[in-house]
Amino acid sequence: MHNRLDSLKNEIQAALEQAHDREALEGVRIKYLGRKGEINRLFKKFPHLSIDEKKTLGDEINKLKKDLIHTLDSRLAGFKEQEVATYELLLPGKIPHVGHLHPLTKTLDEIVKFFTSVGFAVATGPEIEYDWYNFGALNMGKDHPARDMFSSFYINEELLLRSHTSPVQIRVMEKQKPPVKIICPGRCYRYDAFDASHSPVFHQVEALYVDEGVSFGELKWLLGEFVNYIFGPKTKFEIRPSFFPFTEPSGELAISCTVCSGAGCSVCSNSGWLELLGCGMVHPQVLKNVKISPQKYSGYALGMGVERVAMIKYVIDDIRVFFNNDIRFLEQF
Ligand SMILES: [Zn+2]
Repeated sequence: MHNRLDSLKNEIQAALEQAHDREALEGVRIKYLGRKGEINRLFKKFPHLSIDEKKTLGDEINKLKKDLIHTLDSRLAGFKEQEVATYELLLPGKIPHVGHLHPLTKTLDEIVKFFTSVGFAVATGPEIEYDWYNFGALNMGKDHPARDMFSSFYINEELLLRSHTSPVQIRVMEKQKPPVKIICPGRCYRYDAFDASHSPVFHQVEALYVDEGVSFGELKWLLGEFVNYIFGPKTKFEIRPSFFPFTEPSGELAISCTVCSGAGCSVCSNSGWLELLGCGMVHPQVLKNVKISPQKYSGYALGMGVERVAMIKYVIDDIRVFFNNDIRFLEQF
């Protein structure tokens, strides 16, 4: 009888060691603890035993039963915990609160994406600039009246905070012979009041294409594609005559109002149009200043304020909101 009990213990031990999932453990339970299970079968031999034997053996069998129940219960509980843990791993994660790009950065990225997609390279330059690069080389000598359009922050007689990104065009053309096809995005500074439509710090993107036989027609095509890309295909545009010292002829690009589609509203002062950017054919004197022959080469240039583009695109009527860092405004983008 004791032999059977011992071998049963070993058998159970081995069965437990091999049970690696819930199903196998249930199998062990049924095989050994079930009503007709191996342990209960031991009791069948009891009628042939003495009272003392019954007592010792009974105690041992009951202990075996208790131990097995305890082992099975704790092993099954372990599986349950593991399953819950797995289940939690499969739950969708909590989305952390992350910020996003500033509306000016988004707008600038879009502009850059458009121009790079049609073959322009990005060029940058210093924000503290020589008078020559900011004005002189761009056909605005010391006494040129057009300098009045650019109220600038001077550091001394010769140095200033650049008032546009055009000096980058000069710097690139000095080093690189045509074809030159670049855009110059960057920060600019003007001595302006900080009001609804002015900021002493603002951002520009300028584009320049110089090569043999570059025409105004190509510029017009590019502007049309640009308006389409940024403001959508329904937006109309027109180029009006304008004046800049560094382009000849010069033009201003206007687009149909993005709010009223041209019908007239407060955003477009009832005109149906919004002025977007300045452009024109590079002035021959500018090419001469960087030792590029205006007889052989021609080029177009255009420049826009990133704030202006963003204000039209998102219908914002006060430039200051870009710089006030008000989370209620910034969160809307
Ligand atoms: Zn309008």
